[in-house]
Amino acid sequence: MDDEWICGRMGEDEPWVLGAVNPPVFENSLFTFATAEELGAAIRDEDERYVYWRGTNPTVDLAQRKLAALERGERAKCFGSGMGAIAATISSLVQAGDHVLVLGAVYGPTTQFLRYLEKFGVTHTHVSDLAGCDSAIRPSTRLLYFESPSYMAYAVVDIAEVTAWAREHGLVTVMDNTWSTPIFQKPLTMGVDLVVHSLSKYVGGHSDLVGGVVVGPSRLIRPLALTEYQLYGAAMSPHDAAKVIKGLRTLPVRMAAHQERGLAVAEFLNGHPAVRSVNHPGLPSHPGHATALRQMSGFSSLFSLVLDTESREEVGGFLNKLRHFRIGVSWGGFESLVNAPALSTEESVRATMGIPVGLVRLSVGLEPADTLIKDLGLALEGVGRLA
Ligand code: PLP
Repeated sequence: MDDEWICGRMGEDEPWVLGAVNPPVFENSLFTFATAEELGAAIRDEDERYVYWRGTNPTVDLAQRKLAALERGERAKCFGSGMGAIAATISSLVQAGDHVLVLGAVYGPTTQFLRYLEKFGVTHTHVSDLAGCDSAIRPSTRLLYFESPSYMAYAVVDIAEVTAWAREHGLVTVMDNTWSTPIFQKPLTMGVDLVVHSLSKYVGGHSDLVGGVVVGPSRLIRPLALTEYQLYGAAMSPHDAAKVIKGLRTLPVRMAAHQERGLAVAEFLNGHPAVRSVNHPGLPSHPGHATALRQMSGFSSLFSLVLDTESREEVGGFLNKLRHFRIGVSWGGFESLVNAPALSTEESVRATMGIPVGLVRLSVGLEPADTLIKDLGLALEGVGRLA
């Protein structure tokens, strides 16, 4: 199946759509049945039948079918946030006494969630490579969790190599694929068991949606749908599913534009005298570039640079001088955004994560690249050796 067709038309020629150019939003919390027996049968098969919005909804279902097809997975389940998807997915795979390996840097609240699970007897270890996995694995290790490219540093994990190692050791793998979107990377085809996404980033694309999804084989999604999805209550609303469907319509085109603009900005910054390094896997100088080319068909526009400074004030001054990059959390929208962990993260957390003081994260939006480059060039004039 072609990604453009999945994003644009798949599932939208069904009789219930009535030829409408956008499918209807099923704005009802429950469905009714002709008889009590029919209701009973539907409740017994609630994963497949429409009963109550916390479990299933036709608009959410359509978004799920498109996301599953894009990731080349059997089934998807959409949540009210990316963290909802991540928390439910991890919970569905572990029980008291189990151990989780976390490979490379991952989204902060994912680590916080793993720490939270300690009170239920689930432990975890952070490792930086496969040698680290070899030393940290225990008989109780059940799950290997990772992102690629990784959080803030945008290091590339060799997905096929890691999933082969995990299979050999009998572990389930979960990968956060938010950075690439399914347009640029399809981890299930490289042996990953379950893929999670925040849909709040590029998939939504307009900074008006918070949502998440998990995609994978029915044997893993069905138990999760019947248990954690229903019990945690982090269901996606049909209104948000309609925004996912709308976001998907332009996702391939937007990702091509994000890629082009992000790379132009990264190339400008790479080698700039006020910049120590640029962490963008699309740059040939990036240590993971060759692996990235093997497993990804493109690059999104979220990356980091390290300013030539050890001063938090100087980092703050740089952010405050930018006129086109807006200061804020999140990423993947139409608008360019900037954030710096030295200013927004607790000092001890930043240092533990090994994030340099001068690290600045850019999410390059859909503005013309030359406007953004001019903006950055002016703000860099006051930084480091150039001050
Ligand atoms: N994964 C990554 C890589 C993220 O950056 C985020 C949020 O920033 C999440 C997951 C969580 O997604 P959400 O904010 O939709 O809960």
